[in-house]
Amino acid sequence: MRDIDLFQLALGLVPPWMVASANFDADNKRLDIEIDFKTGGRFPCPDCGKANCPVHDTVKKTWRHLNFFQHQAFLHARVARIDCPDCGVRLVNVPWARPGSGFTLLFEAFVMTLVKGMPVATAARLVGEHDTRLWRIIQHYVDTAVARMDLSDLKRVAIDETAAKRGQDYISLFVDIDARKVVYVTEGKDAKAVAKFADHVDAHNSDASRIKEVCIDMSAAYIKGVTEALTEAEITFDKFHAVKLVNDAVDQVRRAESKEQPELKHSRFLWLKNKWRLSVAQTASLDALTRMHLKTARAYHIRLAFQEIYNQPSREWAELFLDRWYNWAIRSRLEPMMKVARTVNRHRNGILRWFNSKIANGLIEGINSLVQAAKAKARGYRSVRNLIAITYLITGKIDLRLAT
Ligand SMILES: [Zn+2]
Repeated sequence: MRDIDLFQLALGLVPPWMVASANFDADNKRLDIEIDFKTGGRFPCPDCGKANCPVHDTVKKTWRHLNFFQHQAFLHARVARIDCPDCGVRLVNVPWARPGSGFTLLFEAFVMTLVKGMPVATAARLVGEHDTRLWRIIQHYVDTAVARMDLSDLKRVAIDETAAKRGQDYISLFVDIDARKVVYVTEGKDAKAVAKFADHVDAHNSDASRIKEVCIDMSAAYIKGVTEALTEAEITFDKFHAVKLVNDAVDQVRRAESKEQPELKHSRFLWLKNKWRLSVAQTASLDALTRMHLKTARAYHIRLAFQEIYNQPSREWAELFLDRWYNWAIRSRLEPMMKVARTVNRHRNGILRWFNSKIANGLIEGINSLVQAAKAKARGYRSVRNLIAITYLITGKIDLRLAT
């Protein structure tokens, strides 16, 4: 078998395409394969599909292909421009690459597989290409997969924000709670982000009115966004965020008090962790501090009681419990606890909604760790757009339809 026949088979070329020559350059570690078509070959129109259009002229093009052992491989071809009676002169599509790409489909599939498992910058070094070219491939496959997304089954959504770059920019994540995957990612953490999500749902075989349950933190921006754009959705306030607010209030009490009570310095951790996660020595320190009749200890007990709300047997019991908790906290004479009590009270319905929906953003802890992995893979990414693409790739379970 001649080498050009071997390459013809390996590339899966069908007439009129054929391998014309192959040049192996051991010194420069390169393999160059020339592809051509038989004289008189005819091609279908890329726009209207009309078969057997005559060739008008040709354009020389080159594509990077999968390495041949340790050698970089390139395909070269003169690509026909056909004369379609309806559309005019058009460049034909080649079967080994998508229009406008400088890589073959197999090379792109290889790159997409690499970037799922390693940072894009590392993949770029490995294949010897600049990472901007890899990002362009990622954008293409992710964009087309997202465009095909079917959201007809989406009913319950958790919304959360995550820092994009060193805490300056944020992206909002919209997670399908039942399918446990990210279905939308966008810049910002404001009401507009939720409005854009509603448009995204409308555009993907569904309707924003089909979203029935939403889990968010108590940020005014998300509340506004959900109320305006997801009109059929009931809001559950994420219980982890709620407990964190109460925790933050305890810490404010501790910091203020530690000016008079030096024992409280460096004790932040003791008050914030759940008791069963403390060591024996830490538990002893906490017990000693608790016996000192400190303001911090009172705040701490208010916080412990707050968590108990979620252990009530029913929403009715929780309502009674929450009322008693509120009265206690509001009479505590501890300003941060009174403030957080008022916040909790204003968001009472969404907090109690948990008893009906049982949804929390903790359900998506797995998703959050994937998002962190996505951020690591996008290390050195040049734009939020790149971070969004890699987030879809890692957390969206999207269907890429890669060449095989
Ligand atoms: Zn045509």
